[in-house]
Amino acid sequence: MSGWRRTAAGPRGARSAGSDPMVIKVPKACKKCSHITDEDVCPLCAGQTSKEWQGYLIVVDHSRSEIARKMGLHVNGKFALRVR
Ligand SMILES: [Zn+2]
Repeated sequence: MSGWRRTAAGPRGARSAGSDPMVIKVPKACKKCSHITDEDVCPLCAGQTSKEWQGYLIVVDHSRSEIARKMGLHVNGKFALRVR
């Protein structure tokens, strides 16, 4: 019998890495491919970006991510789930 269990103890009180930048930029999301960027034009598809977006998706390995496949993503990076 498997009478033991693994307890996933995360790092308690994880410190935030580094200090925050003085200016907080509002990230924008591409209307075409949902890629999140600071630029006005998407670096991936040259599409227009928008500040009106919801949901945050980080794709670390797009080839193994089901969500990335569903969204038609073929690159790693940060993406918005919904862009207006
Ligand atoms: Zn794009």
